[in-house]
Amino acid sequence: MFDRRRFMIAVPALGAAARAGAGTSPPECAVFTRARQQSTSPDEALALLKEGNERFVAGRTVNCDLRAQVRDTASGQAPFATIVGCIDSRVPPELVFDQRIGDVFCARIAGNFVNDDILGSLEFATKLAGARLAVVLGHTECGAIKGAVDGAKLGYLTAMLRNFAPAIKASRGVPGEHTSRNRAFVQAVADANATLSAAQLVARSEVLRSMVEQGQLRIVSAMHDVATGRVTFFI
Ligand SMILES: [Zn+2]
Repeated sequence: MFDRRRFMIAVPALGAAARAGAGTSPPECAVFTRARQQSTSPDEALALLKEGNERFVAGRTVNCDLRAQVRDTASGQAPFATIVGCIDSRVPPELVFDQRIGDVFCARIAGNFVNDDILGSLEFATKLAGARLAVVLGHTECGAIKGAVDGAKLGYLTAMLRNFAPAIKASRGVPGEHTSRNRAFVQAVADANATLSAAQLVARSEVLRSMVEQGQLRIVSAMHDVATGRVTFFI
């Protein structure tokens, strides 16, 4: 018998958020409490990420006392969003969305595709831990996508790259050679992969689908440009 209480996570007391937001700390530095998380709508969660990326691109990132945030989240977490991103070193979600300790769950895997373990991670992040938004974040110049379109063979990578077959198939109408030398093709596959992966979250997970249908969760895909730092949402 599944006992949901065993998986419930502690959340920081309201006093912790008040302390984090006190004094000279900007409001962005207040850690998320369960109450603040649940009063944030999925659309507002999306706006928070958009605003954070605007700050990142403009060089106006917020400087928070991370040690204070560690203290204020020690007893629990209540992140407002969950992000599936690539392992690429140029695309750390917390940095490109100007978020910090306790703000977002991040699942990172080469090529930001979705499998059973990612689905389980997102079900935890949303249904049990309360995140209001799920983002599949692709990026330009993705090495995993390039490897997949070139049919790279290496150890476990060979099997992993098969996850991109649907996105490659969806991009077959792109003109030019279908190799990593064709940047337009690589980008089309990356776009399709982000979109299809977001669709998979709803199609494969009854838990996520039910939350979306009830307005508790929003799922979107997005593309990060490694040349500019800008994230474009596909909505
Ligand atoms: Zn990548």
